[in-house]
Amino acid sequence: MTHSGQDCIRVRGARQNNLRGLDLDLPLGELVVVTGVSGSGKSSLVFDTVYAEGQRRYVETFSPYARQFLDRMDKPRVDRVEGIPPAIAIDQTNPVRTSRSTVGTMTELNDHLKLLFARVARLHCRGCGRPVRRDTPESILASLGERLAPLGDPRLVVTFPVAVPKNFSEQEVLGLLEQQGYTRVHARTPTQLEMVLDRFRLAGADRSRTLEALETGLRVGRGRVAVHALSADGEAAVLRYSSDLHCADCDIHYREPTPSLFSFNSPLGACETCRGFGRVIGVDYGLVVPDTGKTLRGGAIRPWQTESYRECQDDLVKYAKKRGVPLDTPWRELTDEQRRWAIDGEGPFEKKVWYGAKRFFQWLETKSYKMHIRVLLSKYRSYTACPQCDGARLKEEALLWRLEVPGEPRGLNVHETMLLPIERCRRRSTRRPTCCSARSARASTSSCGSASATSRSTASRARCRAARCSAST
Ligand SMILES: [Zn+2]
Ligand SMILES: [Zn+2]
Repeated sequence: MTHSGQDCIRVRGARQNNLRGLDLDLPLGELVVVTGVSGSGKSSLVFDTVYAEGQRRYVETFSPYARQFLDRMDKPRVDRVEGIPPAIAIDQTNPVRTSRSTVGTMTELNDHLKLLFARVARLHCRGCGRPVRRDTPESILASLGERLAPLGDPRLVVTFPVAVPKNFSEQEVLGLLEQQGYTRVHARTPTQLEMVLDRFRLAGADRSRTLEALETGLRVGRGRVAVHALSADGEAAVLRYSSDLHCADCDIHYREPTPSLFSFNSPLGACETCRGFGRVIGVDYGLVVPDTGKTLRGGAIRPWQTESYRECQDDLVKYAKKRGVPLDTPWRELTDEQRRWAIDGEGPFEKKVWYGAKRFFQWLETKSYKMHIRVLLSKYRSYTACPQCDGARLKEEALLWRLEVPGEPRGLNVHETMLLPIERCRRRSTRRPTCCSARSARASTSSCGSASATSRSTASRARCRAARCSAST
C-alpha cells in the first residue's frame, strides 16, 4: 500500500522479526487498522518498527543527561522510515492499575495537565463566579480606585471582623479590643463584631497611610477587611477583601490547589458520588418501560407484571383512576407530566398516596440483602452519568479552577480541557503545555482524558509504553 499524500509515514524495507522487506505508507491523522492472522507481523510492524523508530528519534532530541531517564528502544531493522512523528503506544500486555485509567492517565499526559492546573489556573468562586484571588494592600487599593470610581469619592470606613468565641461575652471581646485601641463597632451579630479601623476619603488620603491601614486590617482581621462606602443616605457599597484563597463577598474559603485536586485517581480530586468514575449505577427507566407502545393497564411498567408485585400494578390502576391518568393510552402518547406521575409518584407509601416506580425501586434497594431482589434489581440497572459531577469525575472544587485560554471567554476547566481533541488543545493553550505539544499530538486524535482508553476487559491487559514528555515543572 502506498499513499500519495505528503502527510504520511513512509516505511521502506522493514525486516524486523518476521517482516520480509515490507514497504508501506501510513496516512497521518487517520485511524489505521492493521489486521492479520497470528504471527503475520502486526506487532513487528506497529510496535517494533513504527513506534520504536518514532520513540527512538524522539528520545534523540533530548540532551544526553535527559536521555538516561527515558526508555530507549533499539533501532528497528528497516531501510528507512520517513515522516514519523513521536508516538504513544498502548499495548495489551501490562496490567492497568485502576479501571479509571484512560489514554490520558496511561500516557501520563494527565500528570502534566494536573500540574498545569495546580500552577496556572485561576479559581472562580462557586457563589458569585468571580475570580478569587489573594488580596494584598496594593491590590485592594487598586480595586478600590476602580470599583469606587462610579460613586465619586465617598467617605470610606475600613473595618475588620472579629469573631466572638462561644465561651466569651461580647463585652469581654470588646474589652480586649479596647486595649489594642479599637473602640468603635461598625456592625455586630451574635457571633461577630465588625470593628472600625480607619476612616478616610480615597482622594484625600495619603497612599502610604492607606496601605498601612489595609495591612493592619488584614493582620488584625485574620486576613479579612471590608471597606464601606458611605453616601448621604447611608451605606452605598461594601467591598470585601481577603488575603486568603477566600471569596470575601460570599465568605467561602477554598483550599490551596495541588496536582492531586485535579486527579480523578486521587481521593482529593475524585467526585465523591461516583468515586472518579464519572458514572454511577442506577435504575434505567428505559428498562423499566421497555415497550412504549404498552399502556399502563396493559403492563407498560415491566417490574409490576409478575405475581410478586401485582399489588403495585393494582395500586397504579387505582390511583390513575383517581387522578384521571389514562390507563389505556400507549406510554409514548402520555404527556410528560403523566409519565412523570407514574415514575416519580406523589409521595411516600405511608401517606397513602401514589408512590411511583422510583419509590418502588428505593424500597427494593432496602431489601437488596435478599438474593432474588438483587437479581431483580440487576435487570433494571445500568450506568448513567454521575448526577453530582455530570461525568466530569472530579469534585466541584477542582472544576472551579479555570485556565485562561484565547478564544474561550470563561476559560477552560480541567475536564473541558480533557475533552478537547489534542490538536485543538495544543492550539488553544497559550503556554503550550508540554503534555499537548506537537510531539504527541499526532500520535492520537482522541482526547487526553475523558474517553476510556480501552474497554473494561482489555483495560486490564493494556500496557502503556508512553513517549514520556519532558515535564517542565
Ligand atoms: Zn463569591
Ligand atoms: Zn461524579
